[in-house]
Formats: sequence, C-alpha cells, structure tokens
Amino acid sequence: MIRVGTGFDIHRLAPGRRLVLCGARFDSPRGLLGHSDADAPVHALVDALLGSAALGDVGTLFPDDDPRWEGADSMELLRRTVALLRENGWRPVNADLTVFAEEPKISPRAPEMRANLASALGLGVGAVSVKGKTMEKLGPVGAGEAIAAQAAVLVESCN
Ligand SMILES: [Zn+2]
Repeated sequence: MIRVGTGFDIHRLAPGRRLVLCGARFDSPRGLLGHSDADAPVHALVDALLGSAALGDVGTLFPDDDPRWEGADSMELLRRTVALLRENGWRPVNADLTVFAEEPKISPRAPEMRANLASALGLGVGAVSVKGKTMEKLGPVGAGEAIAAQAAVLVESCN
C-alpha cells in the first residue's frame, strides 16, 4: 500500500539567530525564530510524514513548551519521525520540498540540503527534491520577514 502526505511551515526571520534550512547552515545576519532551530522545511517534511501515516503533527509530537526540544536540531526530529513511521509499518519512497524565501538563494545549496534529508529519510539523494522559490516580493515572505516551506511525501507499507 502507498500513502501520500503534505506539510507546510513558516517561521519569522530574526536577528541574532542561526539560519538553518534542511540541516544546512547559511551565512546570514538573520535566522528563523522558534523553539527548536526553526528549520522550516524540515518541519514541513515532518508534518508531511506524520500526515501520510495519520500520526498527528509536529506540534503534538515535539511540543514547543517541552524543554527537550529547546534549540533542538530539527534533523534529529526528522530521524525520530522516520523511526516512528517505521514502527507503524511505513517507510518513505520520495520527498519533494519547496522553500519560499526572498533570500538566501536555495539552488546553490540544494545538493547539500537534499543529501541531509536523504540521509535522515534512508533514501538515495535521487528520491529527494529541494526547490527554492521567491514570493515575488508579496506577503511576509516577499517582504523578507519570514521563510516558508511546503513538503510532499510518498510512503509505502514495509511489513
Ligand atoms: Zn516550524
């Protein structure tokens, strides 16, 4: 059996924070604000995975009032999510992510971002896509106040 899942996330940009997208650190004067490292595309992917197996959402699994996830590496949350799906009989087949940001440019770093995600998902890099898109200066993302991301995944039963 196969199932599909989708996820979306958005975080505000703030000075003095590290900018981490799909586990890749960007040299930027501002980073995303959040309880964990606020890696929005990884949060979108976690939500897509959880959604595919109807196992809830990122906020329920990793609550932002839980000190365990303070400053957490979101790639670790992703690895835990993949493990939870496996316990429930599901494994990822492929993932497709879009990162919405006026800056930085995503495409030069996409190979590293894809490799990070592929490793956590237990997939070949050819099964993981990361695309960048601006919002044509529209809305909070277009004004450079936030970075958003959406993810789609396919999973298949593994037992
Ligand atoms: Zn988030």
